[in-house]
Amino acid sequence: MAFEGLSSRLQNVFGKLRGKGKVSEDDVNEAMREVRLALLEADVNFKVVKDFIAKVKERTIGLEVSKSFTPGMVVVDIVNKELTELMGGSNTKLAKANKPPTVILMAGLQGAGKTTSSAKLAKLLLKDKHKPLMIAGDIYRPAAIKQLQVLGEQIGVPVFTLGDQTSPVEIARQGLQLAKDNGHDYVIIDTAGRLHIDEALMTELRQIHEATNPDEVLLVVDAMTGQEAVNVAQSFHSQLELTGVILTKLDGDTRGGAALSVKAVTGCPIKFAATGEKIEPLEPFHPERMASRILG
Ligand code: GDP
Repeated sequence: MAFEGLSSRLQNVFGKLRGKGKVSEDDVNEAMREVRLALLEADVNFKVVKDFIAKVKERTIGLEVSKSFTPGMVVVDIVNKELTELMGGSNTKLAKANKPPTVILMAGLQGAGKTTSSAKLAKLLLKDKHKPLMIAGDIYRPAAIKQLQVLGEQIGVPVFTLGDQTSPVEIARQGLQLAKDNGHDYVIIDTAGRLHIDEALMTELRQIHEATNPDEVLLVVDAMTGQEAVNVAQSFHSQLELTGVILTKLDGDTRGGAALSVKAVTGCPIKFAATGEKIEPLEPFHPERMASRILG
């Protein structure tokens, strides 16, 4: 299960603290040493860990002043709050265009879960009584168009395609026009993913961006890849201003590093969490719930 290692280690540390009526500075230092190791082992970015520990320590200074709670509980509470803060504090909602349609550009490396997440996002919008259109902009991966069409059919969302011989920029442009003509209030543009970030991929994304002026640029990253996911996010963000991240494969045994570092490193909030291969509505990401889940 995701975060299992991190969760059990933190629970262990805090179990010891919670039981204490009094917590000495040494106890806190010892606990923080263990928290630091647990975070590093969970593949959380080194600098993020350093800042995190510094913040928690700063807030635990002067704990003796508070007599109303057992200090151990207070430390746990501080860590919970800081973990929540680290992941963005609270849920960041999907943007909404003043004048529909709201355009969502999906980006990411091949295999991250872009196409699957596009359909899951469409399903969420459908659930909220919207009328999404998906645009098949990945003309390079064999069967990507077909995959989106099959998913679209499955959930009852139309898919715009011009096949794989027209440029993705033109496909996006025409798809957006069709959405306007047919009264779709959300447009999800699936784009090509490469095995590595390359110049051609970025140039094409920038061109699609220019042609469609998206309200959201969501980067789909695979949580299982840990720090690599964070590096990918940073590279994309430096070349294409992202508005948020969709973290996929949280159902796997991810150690948690990506979930805990992405916001702090890139400044981009995680907007959605994805689990499973089945097309269920994408789940909005709630930092406070994730922190509680990690702390158990
Ligand atoms: P794309 O290349 O980025 O479009 O990736 P796909 O959407 O085709 O997904 C790649 C693989 O990952 C497929 O086998 C998906 O079923 C699987 N996948 C996508 N999202 C998730 C997820 O949240 N959890 C799990 N377990 N698998 C996922």
